[in-house]
Amino acid sequence: GAKQSGRNGYLFFDPELRRRTEERVMAIGRVQEALDRAEFVLFYQPIVDMRSQRVFGLEALLRWDHPEKGLIAPMQFLPLITNTGLSARVGDWVLSQALEHLAQWRRAGLDLQVNVNISARHLQEPDFVQRLAELLARHPDPLAEHLKLEIVESEAHADLAASSQLLARCRALGVRSALDDFGTGHSTLTHLQRLPVDVLKIDRSFVNHMLDDAQDKALVEGVIGLARTFGCSVVAEGVETPAQARMLLDLGCDSAQGTGIAAPMPAAQVADWVRSYSGLFALAPAGSPRLA
Ligand code: C2E
Ligand code: MG
Ligand code: MG
Ligand code: MG
Repeated sequence: GAKQSGRNGYLFFDPELRRRTEERVMAIGRVQEALDRAEFVLFYQPIVDMRSQRVFGLEALLRWDHPEKGLIAPMQFLPLITNTGLSARVGDWVLSQALEHLAQWRRAGLDLQVNVNISARHLQEPDFVQRLAELLARHPDPLAEHLKLEIVESEAHADLAASSQLLARCRALGVRSALDDFGTGHSTLTHLQRLPVDVLKIDRSFVNHMLDDAQDKALVEGVIGLARTFGCSVVAEGVETPAQARMLLDLGCDSAQGTGIAAPMPAAQVADWVRSYSGLFALAPAGSPRLA
């Protein structure tokens, strides 16, 4: 307001800090409105088993369908609400919506799993596991073993003991988890040993350069080796070309996702896409055209 003090009598002596604080408060308000006005929407990106060529899962990716600006990417608005209670509310909406879609697809006879990105803040909400159990219980079909939680590697480390315990409780419900953006978060073997995760997702920055950067290729190989040691499976993110898919298959990578297979798509397109997927991509000989 016009007075020189904010809430709690805090004085904004620094106009830049004040401006940033006001911007953040407004941004949080807009995200809150988006949630209330049902402007969030989930897109889904297929995950393919490299050896069988089967589509076995989909990652749910959040978009804000803004009435004027159109689709807004999650990195444009999620960081604004990190460490606010709103983060858990948005996360809760994502989980419940993804479970609805999963139930629909499975009822339609599609044997799919859905991966949901969970922020550390959301996972560490006091009632997260309870809430997850409630959302699962809404559905008559057993969905737990077809849901996977993706936790960003670096966030899981922030509070390793808490993350380990929470993921173990999710697993007790039948819900398994994956370490996302793996390779970017300074994992130690101890971290991996303590975290009850079933999947490592290789960050796309390594996949991107593995064909012409020997170090990135070695890193990808290393992650695949680590996964074997810890009994995890490996998903490569950001697979854009047949040559990348070929190399990943040769290195023993289990599964892949990326725009070379399919870009994230609206939920309504998933069933048709999965049914018509011909599985040619990963085994296409070098130089053959990329599939749409
Ligand atoms: P992520 O979980 O690592 O998701 C993969 C991102 O890579 C997605 O970006 C996806 O669209 C993009 N991508 C997929 N294939 C390719 C490819 O071949 N090449 C390139 N260059 N990019 C590809 P998106 O949808 O913008 O999401 C960005 C990040 O936002 C996600 O990274 C995830 O960390 C976060 N996020 C998305 N949805 C949610 C959500 O519902 N909750 C939370 N907490 N975070 C989310
Ligand atoms: Mg992810
Ligand atoms: Mg990732
Ligand atoms: Mg990422």
